[in-house]
Amino acid sequence: MTLAFVNGRYLPLSQARVSVEDRGFQFADGVYEVVAIVGGRLVDVDGHMDRLARSLGELRIAWPMSRPALSLIMGELVRRNGVTTGLVYLQITRGTAPRDFRFPVPPVRPTLVMTVRRVARFGSPTQLADGVAVITIPDIRWLRRDIKSVSLLPQVLGKQQAVEAGAFEAWMTDADGLVTEGCSSNAWIVTDAGVLVTRPADHLILDGVTRRSLLRIAGELGVATEIRPFSVAEARSAPEAFLSSATTFALPVTRIDGQPVGTGRPGNLTRRLRQVYLETVCGVRP
Ligand code: PLP
Repeated sequence: MTLAFVNGRYLPLSQARVSVEDRGFQFADGVYEVVAIVGGRLVDVDGHMDRLARSLGELRIAWPMSRPALSLIMGELVRRNGVTTGLVYLQITRGTAPRDFRFPVPPVRPTLVMTVRRVARFGSPTQLADGVAVITIPDIRWLRRDIKSVSLLPQVLGKQQAVEAGAFEAWMTDADGLVTEGCSSNAWIVTDAGVLVTRPADHLILDGVTRRSLLRIAGELGVATEIRPFSVAEARSAPEAFLSSATTFALPVTRIDGQPVGTGRPGNLTRRLRQVYLETVCGVRP
């Protein structure tokens, strides 16, 4: 039986409930995190908790419990579900109150929901061997994409468009044709000179926890890095492109809008970054 954690209780998933007046449901007034589980351990959990703290702070949502308690429960939920390879989903909303745009006065207890799901792997053998396809779409989101809010409708529509086009992900572009990020991932290219390029983590993208770790790894490996936006045209003609997220790690992108990236094969730097990420962050022995 799969267990969820809802507002202080471990419950069978089928009995896990929040109110119809929850502000997450009514207004998408909440934040979330997705953390990978590898070998029964939470991957990059400090980075995810740091970002959660930031998201909550930006929206002025209180912690439902202390940060150490939250981390402990996350680990306990993974243990109780016996999941060794999977994902934890954590959502915190401003809580349940009669529907009113204004923050509830007095404040109500934030809603905390955690679920755990088994996954077979973080990127299939085919995806790793051949890379994945992305399409490009206009970025129609709000201007605080740095907050990991549960308001994800543009990404829902973008992903669906990608699926219908036979692609894995949609890369969103700004008015200048520069790639912001994927619907649920950060976007990267490698230049002819072997320089790793990804967009700055300002308000226009989500600062991926995986992105941060990959940048640190690149630095440790002595890989030159440029933090700057890149266009769809530059990405199409780049020797390598890839995407990153907690659910995919570094995953090669070999087609953009139906055109091959470089030779159309996954690149060596992508492979190397993924390998080192697996070894050093996920603790997977080579
Ligand atoms: N960008 C967006 C819009 C995302 O939704 C995500 C993950 O869900 C990412 C980037 C990657 O972030 P992380 O590496 O923390 O999973």
